[in-house]
Amino acid sequence: MPELAPSYIIVGAGVFGASTALYLSRQKPSPTIILVDRFPYPCPIAASHDINKIVRSDYGDIFYCKLGLKALERWRTDPLFEMWYHQSGLLKATDHNADLVDKTLENYKELGVDVGAELLRPAELKTRFEGLFSETDLTDVENILWNPSSGWAEAATALKYTLDAVTQNGVYYITADVTTLIIKDGACTGVRTEDGRTFTAKKIILCTGAYTAKLIADSAPTQTELQVGNRITACGVCEAAVNLNAEQVEKFKDAPAFVFDANKTQGETMPPTPKNQLKFIRDIPFKRTVEHPASGQRISVPFTNKERSQWTTPDKMPTSIKKEIATVMDGIYGKEVEGLIVHDIRFCWDGITPDNNWYITPHPRCQNLYIATAGSFHGWKFLPIIGEYVVQMLKGELGEEERKRWEWDRSLEDVPRNVLLPEREVGDMEV
Ligand SMILES: Cc1cc2nc3c(=O)[nH]c(=O)nc-3n(C[C@H](O)[C@H](O)[C@H](O)COP(=O)(O)OP(=O)(O)OC[C@H]3O[C@@H](n4cnc5c(N)ncnc54)[C@H](O)[C@@H]3O)c2cc1C
Repeated sequence: MPELAPSYIIVGAGVFGASTALYLSRQKPSPTIILVDRFPYPCPIAASHDINKIVRSDYGDIFYCKLGLKALERWRTDPLFEMWYHQSGLLKATDHNADLVDKTLENYKELGVDVGAELLRPAELKTRFEGLFSETDLTDVENILWNPSSGWAEAATALKYTLDAVTQNGVYYITADVTTLIIKDGACTGVRTEDGRTFTAKKIILCTGAYTAKLIADSAPTQTELQVGNRITACGVCEAAVNLNAEQVEKFKDAPAFVFDANKTQGETMPPTPKNQLKFIRDIPFKRTVEHPASGQRISVPFTNKERSQWTTPDKMPTSIKKEIATVMDGIYGKEVEGLIVHDIRFCWDGITPDNNWYITPHPRCQNLYIATAGSFHGWKFLPIIGEYVVQMLKGELGEEERKRWEWDRSLEDVPRNVLLPEREVGDMEV
């Protein structure tokens, strides 16, 4: 451990914390950095810890389309990341956001890049991909985006490899639960951990995902001006993994990733992993609103017990959740998934913002406190580049557009309702 007070404490070793630590540890002269998380890395309760995640540049919002292209370039070429990226192609079907496909294609045109993306009509899907989607429920689906140059990455492995690099660069990784931030006279000077330790630093960066609102509320319950409020809501979704035998792997091995944002299916899947697992996600989130008596707030707080935050066996999950997963599997693949058995299942929690933009910002009412998180169900793919922006923010060098998108006090009032912000509570599903 360093004798001098470290320059930075980063709380949270998901993609935001890992990427921040990576870019900070490459600075010259090298600063002293402590990275704290509840678990040894890669943390199994992090949203960033997963079997796989989709990596794409297909966005209706040209800002994230550009960022996605930049991230993809690194996924393809950076020795730290290229091993974990698989270019399977990505399908995206939608029924309620009819112009999303057009907007995405227009973005590529405007940026002058040819990624090979095209619009597919539902009937075309049935005949392509060697008939894998001949049984897909295409009720209400109008447009499908096909981008052969998107793909997916081995999530937990890529995160671990990044954190290996981070610790090799001299970052101190501490396994501890941060119970409170040390906040006094309008400034943050460090963190206290559950095991009674205190760490101080010049700058404290919260990369705490779905746990951010509770940590700030626990740390300064009476300071209303510091609270997260409606900026970040902890939201969970359920995902499930199937172990495939050799014959099943053969059937799905050339499948694209598929985001199916339509009809009752509402879910997604990716091709088999090197460990022969096929993953499905139910894309209808939920929150878990609880009273926070000390601050007088109602806050959505993720479960932290193993059975509701890490991979577990299906017998530990509510029946209604298992039925939702079955709806996704059946809706995407129909009879192709007959006989497949879910072996592992998980609630996965992320911090969601009303406008889908993240927070990469100083806390304007607490000196030395910075926030870099709230991936809003789309932050993972930016692992190779997010830290670059966090370092720019710390130096006050963020570009104007990035600063406005990610600042703490941006207006959220006229933002259209984010369909990813759930109305349902996890308690409603505990049957
Ligand atoms: C099911 C699911 C699927 C997704 N799929 C995709 C996808 O395909 N592509 C994509 O780009 N994005 C995807 N996302 C979004 C992406 O995973 C997240 O936006 C991103 O991983 C969030 O990273 P993070 O670092 O902010 O938070 P996390 O990864 O959750 O990390 C936060 C870390 O902070 C630690 N922490 C919190 N509080 C404390 C404390 N008090 N003390 C110590 N440690 C603490 C936690 O233990 C955790 O390790 C998905 C999200 C979910 C939930």
